[in-house]
Amino acid sequence: MSKASSSATAEEKEEPIIKVYGWAARDSSGILSPFHFSRRINGDNDITIKIIYCGICHTDLALLKDESGITNYPIVPGHEIVGEVTKVGSSVKKFKIGDKAGVGCMVGSCGSCNNCKQDLENYCPKMIWTYIGYNHQDGLKTFGGYSDKFVVDEHFAVLVPNNLQLDGAAPLLCAGITIYSPMMHFGLNNPDQHLGVVGLGGLGHVAVKFAKALGMKVTVISSSPNKHKEALERLGADHFLVTSHEDQKQLLQAAMGTMDGILDTVSAPHPLLPLVNLLKTDGKLILLGAPSQPPELPHIPLMIGRKIVGGSAIGGMKETQEMMNFAAKHQITADVEVIPMDYVNTAMERLAKGDVKYRFVIDVANTLNPDPLS
Ligand code: NAP
Ligand code: ZN
Repeated sequence: MSKASSSATAEEKEEPIIKVYGWAARDSSGILSPFHFSRRINGDNDITIKIIYCGICHTDLALLKDESGITNYPIVPGHEIVGEVTKVGSSVKKFKIGDKAGVGCMVGSCGSCNNCKQDLENYCPKMIWTYIGYNHQDGLKTFGGYSDKFVVDEHFAVLVPNNLQLDGAAPLLCAGITIYSPMMHFGLNNPDQHLGVVGLGGLGHVAVKFAKALGMKVTVISSSPNKHKEALERLGADHFLVTSHEDQKQLLQAAMGTMDGILDTVSAPHPLLPLVNLLKTDGKLILLGAPSQPPELPHIPLMIGRKIVGGSAIGGMKETQEMMNFAAKHQITADVEVIPMDYVNTAMERLAKGDVKYRFVIDVANTLNPDPLS
């Protein structure tokens, strides 16, 4: 029996619940449409958030279509959530009503394993995803931020500083921390370093902004020649290399052996050898994208130059708050195209084609309500 069918609904268990309205996909067509569901009522450690904006991550698209075979339908995506706190439990310390709060990719972890003890809840074996997971509080399935309200243990929410524009802050909850964490962990955060950023999408453009705020030299490595001007002029990158053009091969050659690190955010299968060749001795290639096929590792070029290939997935809650504060200090938000809820299926089609600069964000507060059943 599947986990989904073995979990009784909150109504069946007669648990106190709140009614929530959102958009869900029911099968791997990934098509989203209105959906009514429940969340637990606000517990002692919980906050309730009226969702204002929710970003659309490429992972939402992959999970909607069940590209990795782990999706359990119905699915309400959304793990780049920002909104206003409307309720706080009696034990809540970080938030008060009216604060702006953000929720990213996880809503729970065991709290006692070695990873949790080191503020690495993101690597806890019992980490609970914001959607397609099961809450440990009540065993019920989690649903994401393409919805009007969210209830979450305060530990898994961060304060969004007031000086950050909220629509552009939403993507920081996933794209932002996914970039910030490896930069800090792998020591790719020094002004004298040269960083490559592969794939100028939601994650990639935030990487350019963070790296420039840290004073680094940044080269964007892209398959889209039309992003050249913006990468340099708007985002402040120092160089732009195109991977897909024959006439760019010389530039790629010239950049060989010049980079201390590369953040690879590409969502589709692509060769790693040209990227490894761009690294200096001891350079680090950090894989952040999640293509459907594993890459081939060019092991000899890695050995010659003692180069490292690593990976990283989002970040812990303490670091997510640190990233938010860093973004607020440097006034960094994502470049967003704000869309109404009923545009979401078109947005998914455009995202699949790379047709967004650089993040779709759903205007939940103004376009999801009112709930047609209320
Ligand atoms: P996105 O906005 O769609 O950006 C991905 C970029 O990859 C595109 O803008 C494009 O950049 C490049 N790309 C796409 N298709 C390509 C192709 N066929 N060949 C070459 N390049 C291609 O996606 P995102 O939201 O930034 O997410 C990027 C990846 O990271 C996804 O796989 C997502 O699931 C994953 N992700 C991982 C984590 C984590 O914790 N590690 C967190 C969030 C997301 P150019 O046009 O510049 O080439
Ligand atoms: Zn994401």
